[in-house]
Amino acid sequence: MKRRLDAGAGYVIVDHTNSPGLSAADVAHVPGQVAIPGGTVFERDMLSCSHCQATVLLNPARVRDRAVCPKCHAYICDRCETARVAAGGACVPFEAVLDRAGELLVKHAGQIDHPELDVLNDPTRLAYTDAPRIVVPGGAA
Ligand SMILES: [Zn+2]
Ligand SMILES: [Zn+2]
Repeated sequence: MKRRLDAGAGYVIVDHTNSPGLSAADVAHVPGQVAIPGGTVFERDMLSCSHCQATVLLNPARVRDRAVCPKCHAYICDRCETARVAAGGACVPFEAVLDRAGELLVKHAGQIDHPELDVLNDPTRLAYTDAPRIVVPGGAA
């Protein structure tokens, strides 16, 4: 069966019509968090990245194309697209990332503070071990 490009797509609705809501100051300390003021309703489509499994809220005002991995023919987030291009177009499905994480955990069993295990906090770094890490502060997808 062919995989559809919208596989993993979803929809989120947060109804703050009867709530004090969350101001920008309330969520300023949480990266990627969205402020939803009181008395409003927030609605967005969302997609899952096939490489890192991140759930991405889609910005309806975005004009740039969204990335599709040409090898697994699925949506990938901007961060994974940057890493994929930097790695020469490699497609690293999430199962391969889990395999690498498992190998590292076995290799460093009982050494939870080992520096090589820091990569477990970031699946993208685990997928593309030689790729540079790019962070866009406040970047909307
Ligand atoms: Zn991703
Ligand atoms: Zn892929």
